[in-house]
Amino acid sequence: MQIINDPAEMQHIAERLRLRHQLIAVVMTMGALHEGHLQLVKIAKEQAGTVILTIFVNPRQFGPDEDFYRYPKPFEKDAALAKAAGVDYLFSPDVEHMYPEGFQTRVLTGNIAEQFEGQTRPGHFNGMATVVLKLMMISKAHIAVFGEKDAQQLAVIRRMVEDFNIDTRIIKAPITREQDGLATSSRNVYLSSDERSQAAVLYKSILKAKEIVSKGTDDTNAIIEEVTSVINSAPDATIDYVCIVNDETFTETGRLQKDGRYRLLLAVRIGSTRLIDNCIIEPA
Ligand code: AMP
Repeated sequence: MQIINDPAEMQHIAERLRLRHQLIAVVMTMGALHEGHLQLVKIAKEQAGTVILTIFVNPRQFGPDEDFYRYPKPFEKDAALAKAAGVDYLFSPDVEHMYPEGFQTRVLTGNIAEQFEGQTRPGHFNGMATVVLKLMMISKAHIAVFGEKDAQQLAVIRRMVEDFNIDTRIIKAPITREQDGLATSSRNVYLSSDERSQAAVLYKSILKAKEIVSKGTDDTNAIIEEVTSVINSAPDATIDYVCIVNDETFTETGRLQKDGRYRLLLAVRIGSTRLIDNCIIEPA
């Protein structure tokens, strides 16, 4: 595995790979790698002969009161995990490489990015889309694998790829979970052991939603009420949002239609750690 820091060098390597008709897949991360990231790498390896893993904690997608400065950065451990997973190139630029003096052009995301994560984290999706576009241009990837864990992010990226005619195929990877159902996340390390056990309520609430929908409930308010009550059973949980959206448009819905495809979205603070999760809701 080769470690590259310079975007121009990464781009040059990618161009040479393309000239040799190599299929390139990219997995973009902020590091502190866990099983969820490694599953994305596994999917990338099944799809392409060359896998580029990017690690970049992008300051432009963090708000001023967020965890940019304390975001975990265990680079040596990450590099070992990436190598063991079969990554070919680990691209890990620093902030000055990605945003040199004079940088000023940004992606402006649309409606799909306005609510939920976009509302709680103003500017987050513009910053995310800008860096994703840059990493697509640098890696020259044919394929990019993203996790369903960040479902709204995935929808924003799909929209950008469509809107900008980007020649990169987006592949969705299912959510990787711990034994008690908590979605693996680099931010889980912020949880104390008591908070970690309480965090299991997110997945419990997802199971509850699936259960009542399978029994025929189609009123989204009733589903949200049940989900809310499961989450509130954890003493240190504070709900940011619980909502049910059309899976394609990310617009909220009142009643589930029989042939519709919906997504339950959760954002919950356990103590001071903000966790997100989601699942598909399909009416019986
Ligand atoms: P991050 O490093 O948190 O920015 O995540 C990088 C990529 O990994 C994104 O496409 C995430 O959606 C994906 N990812 C993170 N956690 C999980 C998980 N538990 N299951 C599936 N994908 C994940």
